[in-house]
Amino acid sequence: MKHCLLSWWRRCFARDANANFAAVDWGRLCRQIPLLQGLNGDELEQLQRMALQFLRQKSITPLGVRPRPEQLAAMALQACLPILYLGLDWYRNFYEIILLPAPVERHEELAFGEGWQEEGSSHLGEAWEQGPVVLVWPEVLHDGQWDGYHLVIHELVHKLDMLADGVANGMPPERPGVPIARWQRELETVYAEVCRCHEAAQACCLDEQACDGLDELFAIASECFFSQPLALQAQFPELYRLLALWYQQDPAQRQPRETRRRHGHAALAG
Ligand SMILES: [Zn+2]
Repeated sequence: MKHCLLSWWRRCFARDANANFAAVDWGRLCRQIPLLQGLNGDELEQLQRMALQFLRQKSITPLGVRPRPEQLAAMALQACLPILYLGLDWYRNFYEIILLPAPVERHEELAFGEGWQEEGSSHLGEAWEQGPVVLVWPEVLHDGQWDGYHLVIHELVHKLDMLADGVANGMPPERPGVPIARWQRELETVYAEVCRCHEAAQACCLDEQACDGLDELFAIASECFFSQPLALQAQFPELYRLLALWYQQDPAQRQPRETRRRHGHAALAG
């Protein structure tokens, strides 16, 4: 019954969504998203084409939230930003995006000494291996600022990461000019430095969650690359250079100088 209800809802939503996206004023929407400022006319046109295709290809399932078509269009535009020069095929390893009204609470039994201990955690988003991307909708609505955080980019970068061998480990497919050995060396160097900075309570443009592993470092560094690139370039220039080669973009050229300061909000992306 639950499955039937969900299928019915999805069919209704897909029908409504297709009808409504035709009425979205894409040009105005692009102008309203700070993160897209600095893209040239050709890039914005390409991004709009990709976003519409993204919305047609992916099954978007809102559960307990009611996103408006222009809000979904804004999400799709930003979802396609990292792959603007790679192509939509780079998102071929997932089909569904589930939108939730509140963070996902997880309780896991972890080995602890001789026994087990229950540990709870809260997630604003998740990218499941061989499964959907899960996003907390109110947090998605915060995306788009020059603030160093971007939930949608974070989770979709986990998916790019998984393209190489099915798991998120910070080692995405190799790209021209970025040998994977050099990529790994740089990631490990930055990982050590980020952990050292946070242990010493020193300023770092990358969130402490990057210390959870190279997969988190890649996702968080990519968030920063697209939404606070000047800070990343200043603190980790070699990583910035590798990311610019990998994504074939130079967002530091786009970031307005007056947006250099990083404003924080809860970083709980999984
Ligand atoms: Zn993550």
